[in-house]
Amino acid sequence: MKNVAYQVAALTAFLMITTQTGFAGKDPEARLRQKAERIHRKILTLDSHNDTPMWLADTSYSFAEDHRGKRPRNRVDIPGMKAGGLDGAFFAVFTSQGERSEEGNLHAMNEALKLFEAIDKTVERHSGQLEKAITARDAADINRRGKLAVFIGVENGYPIGNDLSNVEKFYKLGARYITLCHTRNNDLCDSSTDSTEHNGVTPLGYRVIEEMNRLGMLIDVSHVSDKSFYDAIKASKTPVIASHSCARAICNNPRNLDDDMLRALAADDGVIQMCILSSYVKTPEPFPQRDSAQAALRLKYRGFRGLSDEEMNQARKEWYALEDTYPQKLATVADVVDHIDHIVKVAGIRHVGIGTDFDGGGAVSGCGDASEMNNITLELVRRGYSARQIRMIWSGNLLRVMQEAEAFASASK
Ligand SMILES: [Zn+2]
Repeated sequence: MKNVAYQVAALTAFLMITTQTGFAGKDPEARLRQKAERIHRKILTLDSHNDTPMWLADTSYSFAEDHRGKRPRNRVDIPGMKAGGLDGAFFAVFTSQGERSEEGNLHAMNEALKLFEAIDKTVERHSGQLEKAITARDAADINRRGKLAVFIGVENGYPIGNDLSNVEKFYKLGARYITLCHTRNNDLCDSSTDSTEHNGVTPLGYRVIEEMNRLGMLIDVSHVSDKSFYDAIKASKTPVIASHSCARAICNNPRNLDDDMLRALAADDGVIQMCILSSYVKTPEPFPQRDSAQAALRLKYRGFRGLSDEEMNQARKEWYALEDTYPQKLATVADVVDHIDHIVKVAGIRHVGIGTDFDGGGAVSGCGDASEMNNITLELVRRGYSARQIRMIWSGNLLRVMQEAEAFASASK
């Protein structure tokens, strides 16, 4: 009895002290923020898709510089990643879809190799802060060494051309996923934003998938048509990923996955990495003045294809001016988490992650660059997600799928 009374007294004293020191006395919002920050800093956080390598290839660009508030606004750099508690990312070797000919394929391959080189040089230049990651385990190990993990994904299988050995070439350069296509059809499959040409994955596409399985690479179904999506899931011996896509039920865009696709992805044990590109998150309100000004600019600069550096700079300048004149109303972090909620409801917590598409169009209000990644965690905490669930979303699910691909490859050696 005496003992109990002592414990009660001690507890009361403890509570008084903690209240006086302000720990328990803060308002609920401050406590929530504190909790979110604690979780965010503790867990491993990975972004499965950015298009930053296009900037890295520019010799005047420094990845160690803070680009916040500047123009052009690069959304991923070392200071930003550190400020936003982002521990690593997949940097995309992206090639835009051009002519499907021997010449076109070769050109795409050269463009891809330039980006691989730019990534490697960046890692080399900042080797005290960056390290290249190639296995699922690497991310945590690199993080333990106090560095940021640089993974590579290839966005668009176009540069593979008709030469299957290029898949291994990319693997050896460090790529661990390939997005089968981009916004237009290629020789591997149909795109979600083009007409039906092959009715899904092509015979060459199937061979590429088989080769990726053999090597332990992830098949990325973002950008592919619905039929290509189902074909890829069926063909792949290991779970597939959608490196940057959202839920179609929340935002009706062909780039997003509908509920049946989400369920198929879950049955396959794959993962959809939530894209934060505003118009995939929330259908933009009509803005005809902006639309027609953009269309005119696109026409003026021939769809921004085949421009000289000088023309490209000018086009960029005019594009920014246009954005100032007609600022787009962006989706919010809450809108992003609405998608995550939906995916969790339909597919389950094991099947969702985050792939921003920063520097490829990704940005929402409240999460406009790598320095604001923690705002997603804050919203997840606000909605009652546990630390364990948040860890799954931020890296656990993606790394699990990566490990499955690695295990399949080593078992089939
Ligand atoms: Zn993309």
